[in-house]
Amino acid sequence: MSKSSNIKLTYGREHLAIPGPSNIPQRVLQAMNRPAPNIYGKEIELVTEGVREGIAKFANTNGKTVIYVSNGHGVWEASLVNLFRPNDSVLLCSTGHFGHKWGIIAKRLGLNIIHIDVGFNTIIDPTRIEEILKDDRARKIKGILAVHTDTSSSSRNRIQDFKEAISAAKHPAILVVDAIASFGCERIEMDPWGIDVLITASQKGLMTPPGLAYCIVNERAENYAKKLNNKDQIVSPYWDWQPRLNPARFYDIFSGTAPTNLLFGQLEALNMLNEEGRENVFLRHEILSGMVWECIEHLGSKGGALSLNIRDKSLRSNAVTTIFSRQFDFSRVREWISRQGGVDLGIGIGFSSKEFLEGRSVFRIGHMGYLNPHMILGVLSLLEAGLKKENIPFTPGGITAATEFMVKKLRSQRD
Ligand SMILES: *Cc1c(COP(=O)(O)O)cnc(C)c1O
Repeated sequence: MSKSSNIKLTYGREHLAIPGPSNIPQRVLQAMNRPAPNIYGKEIELVTEGVREGIAKFANTNGKTVIYVSNGHGVWEASLVNLFRPNDSVLLCSTGHFGHKWGIIAKRLGLNIIHIDVGFNTIIDPTRIEEILKDDRARKIKGILAVHTDTSSSSRNRIQDFKEAISAAKHPAILVVDAIASFGCERIEMDPWGIDVLITASQKGLMTPPGLAYCIVNERAENYAKKLNNKDQIVSPYWDWQPRLNPARFYDIFSGTAPTNLLFGQLEALNMLNEEGRENVFLRHEILSGMVWECIEHLGSKGGALSLNIRDKSLRSNAVTTIFSRQFDFSRVREWISRQGGVDLGIGIGFSSKEFLEGRSVFRIGHMGYLNPHMILGVLSLLEAGLKKENIPFTPGGITAATEFMVKKLRSQRD
C-alpha cells in the first residue's frame, strides 16, 4: 500500500450538492443556536407569524401559510386529505419520480387518479390538461396535482400556462402545485398563475434543516376545504388545516408544541431571501444552473461520457440537474469526490433500468439555496477531477465554459 492512500484532503467546510437538504447558512445555524423559548410566550407567536407571512410573501399570494412539523411527504398528504375525499378524481401530472410518489399516496387515500405521465424527459403540455378537463362534463375531477420542478428528472413545468388551459375548459378543479424543490430558487407566482394550494418544505431552497413543511392556501381552497369538512369529518385531525388557519389559541397552529428552533432558523432564512430580493434570488439560480449546464455540455462534447437528462434548456429546472454518465458506474466517482473532495453529489432516482446500470450511471447536482459561484465551481472542478480519477472520458475545459458563461451573463445584466 502506498503512503499516499492515507492522505485526506477534506479539511474544511463540507458541501452538499444533493438536491435537498441543501447547505445551511451560518446565519440560520446561529439563529437556531439558543435555548427553546416558552411555547406559551409572545416571542414564539411573533416568530411564527413572521414565518407564515414570509412564506406567503415569497410565494406572491394573499393566501395563508399553514405550517406542519413534517417533511415534504407530510404536506403531500395534508393537501390531499384537506381537499379531497375517497372516490374523488384528481388529475395527476407526472414528469418524473415525484409525481408518481404523490400519486401513490393519493391512491392509498382512496382517490381515483387520472394520470398524465410524460416520463422523465419532458414537461406537461397544458393542452392535454385542457382536453381532459373539457371531456370531464360531469365535473368528477376535483383537483389537478402538478410538480413544478421534478427533482428526479430535473425538468420544470410551465405552471404559468396551466391557468389558461383550466379556464379554457371552464373547469372548477383546484390546482395544487408541489414546489418543494423550486421554492426559494426559481420563479413561482402563486396568485398571478392561479395556483390554489402551493406546497413546499424547509430544507431545499428555504435553506433550513428538514422538519418544517408548508401548505400555502388561497381563499378558494380554504373555503372549498371548509365546505367538505362541514359535510363529513374524514380529514385526519393532525393534518386538518382549519384549526391551524383559524386557531382558537396559538397551540392550535401546530396541533401541539411549536417547532421552536426550526422556526428561528426559518425566519432568518426568510430574512436573507428578503434582503437579497426575490428577483436576484431567481436570477442567481438561473446563472448558477447555466454554469452547471455549460460545464456538463462541454465535458460531454466530442465523445465525453456525460449528458444532461433534459435536452431542451427551456424545460430545465434552475434548482437541480440530472446527468447521465453513459454506461459508466458513476457511484465510484461520487464516492471519491465525497471522500477526497468534501462534496456530496446526488444519486440518480427513478432510473432503475439496465440502460442506466440500475441508476448507478446517473447523478444529480443540487444547486439550490445557499450557493454562490465559488461553491458551484468547486463542485464542477471536483467533478472533472473525479472523471479523471475513474478514467471516464470527458473533454477538458468544463470550468472555462462555466466561467465564460458567468461573465457573459453578468455582462448582459450590465454588472
Ligand atoms: C424533496 C421533494 C419531495 C419530498 O420531500 P421530503 O421532505 O423528502 O418528504 C417532494 N417533492 C419534490 C418535488 C421534492 O423535491
